[in-house]
Order: sequence, then C-alpha cells, then structure tokens
Amino acid sequence: IVAADKAHVWHHLSQHKPYETSDPRIIVEGKGMRVWDQNGKEHLDAVSGGVWTVNVGYGRESIANAVRDQLLKVNYFAGSAGSIPGSVFAEKLIGKMPGLSRVYYLNTGSEANEKAFKMVRQIAHKKFGGTKHKILYRDRDYHGTTITCLSAGGQDERNLQYGPFTPGFVRVPHCLEYRKHEQDGAPVENYGEWAAEQIEQVVLREGPDTVGALCLEPVTAGGGVITPPEGYWQKVQEICDRYGILLHIDEVVCGIGRTGTWFGYQHYGVKPDMVTMAKGVASGYAAIACLVTTEEVFNLFKSDPTDKLDHFRDISTFGGCITGPVAALENMRIIEDEGLLDNCNAMGARMMDNLNAIKDKHAIVGDARGKGLFCGLELVKDRESKEPVEEAKVAAVVAECAAQGVLIGAANRSVPGYNNYLCFAPSLIATASDIDQITGTVDSALTKVF
Ligand code: PMP
Repeated sequence: IVAADKAHVWHHLSQHKPYETSDPRIIVEGKGMRVWDQNGKEHLDAVSGGVWTVNVGYGRESIANAVRDQLLKVNYFAGSAGSIPGSVFAEKLIGKMPGLSRVYYLNTGSEANEKAFKMVRQIAHKKFGGTKHKILYRDRDYHGTTITCLSAGGQDERNLQYGPFTPGFVRVPHCLEYRKHEQDGAPVENYGEWAAEQIEQVVLREGPDTVGALCLEPVTAGGGVITPPEGYWQKVQEICDRYGILLHIDEVVCGIGRTGTWFGYQHYGVKPDMVTMAKGVASGYAAIACLVTTEEVFNLFKSDPTDKLDHFRDISTFGGCITGPVAALENMRIIEDEGLLDNCNAMGARMMDNLNAIKDKHAIVGDARGKGLFCGLELVKDRESKEPVEEAKVAAVVAECAAQGVLIGAANRSVPGYNNYLCFAPSLIATASDIDQITGTVDSALTKVF
C-alpha cells in the first residue's frame, strides 16, 4: 500500500516542503478521538481528521447504520427532486438558525461559497441592473479552492500561479488585534470598531452602489485562528444595513458546534443573509455542504413573468444526494443528545487555560487565541518585534507532536511570511485528559524544537 501510494497518489502536503515525509502516514482506523496508521501506531487526533471535520469523533455506528439503511432503500436520486432526509434535515437545521429559512444542498465548502457568490451576481442583475455585483472579502480569510473562491481568498500564498482571477472581488483588511501595529492608523483602543470601519472605507471607495455582498469567516480559521475583536461584528452589521450589502458568513469551519454555538456568528448577534457550511455538517461520514439563506433572498429567485432570467438555472449531480442529509441528521442528534456544545465550551476553556500557561512558559509563543474548540498559538522569534518564526520550525513542532502520538495542525502556505501558527481543533467529544495530553505534548515539542 505504501509503495502504491508513493508511486501513484498525489498528496497536498506530505510530498511538499516543509511537510514532506519519507513515507506517507495512512490512517487505517479511527475510534472516538484516536486514529491508527498503517504501522499500528496510535495517534490522538487534535485536528478532527486533518482539516477540522470529524466533530462527533470516529467510529459512530449509528451514523454508519443510518447511511447503510438509506443506501439499501434508495441510494440516489437527484437532490432537485427532493428527498425525505433532505426535508427533515433542512427543517432541523433551520430550527437552529432563526431568521433563515431555505437550505440549498451541495457537496463541499468551495461549492457552497461559489454558489453564494453566483447568487449575489444574479441578484445584482435581477434587482440592480447589474451594478451591485462586487463581493468584499477579508485579508487572511479562506473560502475554497476553485478559481473564484481563490479570487475571494485572503491568503496570497495559496493563489500563487493560479491567476488570472475572477474580477469583482475586493479585499478588506484583517481584524487581527495582535498584529494591529502592522496596520496604518490602527488605534490603541477600540480596535474592533476601527477594523470594521476599514470595511466601510472600502465600500465608500468602491461606491456603495457597486457592492453587493460581504463574505467573512466568523472566526478566521486557517488564516491564523483570528477571533474577532470587541465591537467588530456589531459595526459590520451596521455597515451592511447602511449600504444594503448582503452579509454572507462562511461557517465551513465554525458551523455545527466547532466554536461552542451551533454557528460561529451566533456569538456575535449578527443577522446573516447567507450562511455556508460543510465540514462538520456530517463529520465526514458523508459529503454534504449547505447554503442557507433568508426567505427574502429566496424570494428574489421566484418566478417573475417579466424577467426572462427568473429561474434558478443550477443543477448539482451530487448536491442534496440522500446520504448527506441522513448522516447530517444523525450527526446533529448526537451533538444534541450528548451535550457536545456544552462540552465544546468547557473543553475549549480548558484548552485556552493550558495554552495560556504554555505562552507564559515559552517565550517563542507570542499569542494564544481561540473560540470553543478552535484554538491556536502564534509563534514569534521575539515578543517585542513579533517577527514570525519560519514555517520550517512550525513544521518541526508538528512533526515532533506526531512522533509523540498527537496530530496537530498549522497554518501552511497561507499568508506569505505568516505561516507561524499551530492550530488545535479536536472533536467536540474531547475529554479533559485528551485536552491535557494535546497541550502537554505541544509543551514538550516546543521545548525540544526551540
Ligand atoms: N471555507 C473555509 C473557511 C474553509 O476553511 C474551507 C476548507 N478548509 C473552505 C471554505 C472550503 O471547503 P472545501 O475544502 O470543502 O471545499
């Protein structure tokens, strides 16, 4: 298997510097918080399947059984025809998202975001004669891997050599308070309001009549675990309301419990017009993504005899495929029945306590940030200058943790010069001893590498 993998499989990390390994790590089994590789080595998984997906843990028989039963009943019919699980899950999901009412099914986070961008463009044509077509996105945020999603991507290293990009996407500044000294004019106090006002400056520069939507992650995940500063989201909402800008929140990482609420935006009291989600929706037991909108957005696409382009012209072969909502429904039941949102909050608080203790102990740690069970450490050469450590050092910490049996993550090939984060996003089932094992291993790896 290793020989076949090495000869024929194209990996996105382990064959490329600085993460290349002599042999691939092939995960062959998982149970709860733990996975086993091809050599039988056990790993505590602090990244929920690598990219923060397996929110309810591995080996869930009830999800596997529900999917199996459905496959034997009817394995596939195009989602556009409707299905029992699709209807039942949509109703359950909407129950967690007051103010929103329609679920459009897709397969991946990229696809869901791409669809949201297309809706914004179509709304611009239908309602504003094509003018309000620009989409604002934020420095350091990520929205997916297609050319158009990368056009809305705030992580320049990912975009290298993929241009030309889709026009009409405009960048707004990030809101990372720890690095406000690098932003011209950032104040000592009320940084959150200032950071949001920078969005307004972009709207005014571009012309409010040209800006259709603002797309943001609630907590920036891969771009550096950026928790929004105080006052930020309230101001963002005001700006969207003032200029008639649709608020599209990308919950691909934060959605379905990752930050301790069903959705990340629910911490901040905002009212999105569109929400996209993927990873944790079915915890990797099936491929499913959702784009959820308000009834107002849905109504814009209703039949209008005067509009020749009144219909919704998309079709997705596997979007809304029956196994997705089946797995998603059981995934949601588990989160509710096992109280995993409460556990996420309790374990997230424990992890932040432990990470702050690591920060106190290791001068190399400049900042510890997190919300629920999405947490990170920013590594700097010097606390005064905040100069980032090299990516190779971060990779060495990741490798040392893996050698000690704990899989952690890092911001790789993201923002040029700032691939200096470690990130931790264990499943929502993590226990106190799992959290302590993760942070204890990180502590030991930092001692070894620095
Ligand atoms: N949005 C965010 C915030 C993400 O982190 C990701 C994936 N890492 C995506 C969108 C894209 O999702 P997918 O990989 O399922 O296309």
